[in-house]
Amino acid sequence: MNPIVDIQNVSHRYKTREALKGVNLSIGRGEIFGLLGPNGSGKTTLFRILSTFFDPTEGSVKVEDLDLRTDAPKLRKKIGVVFQAPSLDARLTVRENITFQGSLYGLAGKELHTRVQSMMARLGIADRAAELVQRLSGGLKRRVELAKGLLHNPALLILDEPSTGLDPGARIDLWKYLKELREKEKITILVTTHLMEEAEHCDRLAILNEGKVVVIGSPHNLKKEIGGDILHIQTQDAAELARQIEHKMKIKAIHVNGMLQIEHTDGHKLIASLIENFPGKIDAVTFRKPTLEDVFVHKTGHRFWTEDVL
Ligand code: ADP
Ligand code: MG
Repeated sequence: MNPIVDIQNVSHRYKTREALKGVNLSIGRGEIFGLLGPNGSGKTTLFRILSTFFDPTEGSVKVEDLDLRTDAPKLRKKIGVVFQAPSLDARLTVRENITFQGSLYGLAGKELHTRVQSMMARLGIADRAAELVQRLSGGLKRRVELAKGLLHNPALLILDEPSTGLDPGARIDLWKYLKELREKEKITILVTTHLMEEAEHCDRLAILNEGKVVVIGSPHNLKKEIGGDILHIQTQDAAELARQIEHKMKIKAIHVNGMLQIEHTDGHKLIASLIENFPGKIDAVTFRKPTLEDVFVHKTGHRFWTEDVL
């Protein structure tokens, strides 16, 4: 794989706070790549570095072999950026917002007009061209932001928490457009998110925790590595039952939220033998497939959301 983005050993400090600690990752051409992590894990910092806001304290960042430290102006032209906070001028029309962005990238005259027109058509907002942005729904505003980010034909589109503030319908809409862009134009997409459901859309993910990459892989493979199914057992005396399960069945059960949790390849069969082996001791059993949250817990030893975040 000849990566379009190559990030090596990137660390970043804001005064004394270390926001990124030795991040390595590369993104293949045409991938939809996700950076998944809880608040404060360093996603926006990496996003700002990629969007050429600032250089990292240490390490190297390359996009299509252009080095961020020496080629930032050229590199900037290869990247389309969609910020987390809404970046539209609500008092301007859809067309004015997109046109203004084009002039920032040095486009003008007929070429600018043609591109704005075709971008609006592609994102299904051409019939809203003359409407003030403040009158649009959240989902349509996001499409205008996508149009802005794509206007200069970037090879890489980066989006910081693109689903924030969108209702479920608008989220589906956003992902439909992102997938279309990748299919039709082979554009590479990097999305940061703290939402597990959103991360599921990505081809590959890097899970970030406290400024470090914990693991990289496809959502499917990451969940598969957990080892199959997950059972939660409700019981009166969790510690005692865990001891007995380990002794009798050679299976490890851990405490999670007052219940016992078992990871096992054949969860459905295990339910039957647990109930046979420990009559009267099990009040309830739930069965589920692993989620990305389980991957996070497995790799970091703590939950995705800690109390102080909530
Ligand atoms: P995320 O986007 O994953 O929530 P950030 O990259 O915004 O994470 O933040 C990573 C860490 O860096 C956090 O501890 C945050 O408080 C800190 N941080 C972010 N921006 C600044 C800043 N401008 N000055 C000082 N600390 C910052
Ligand atoms: Mg952030």
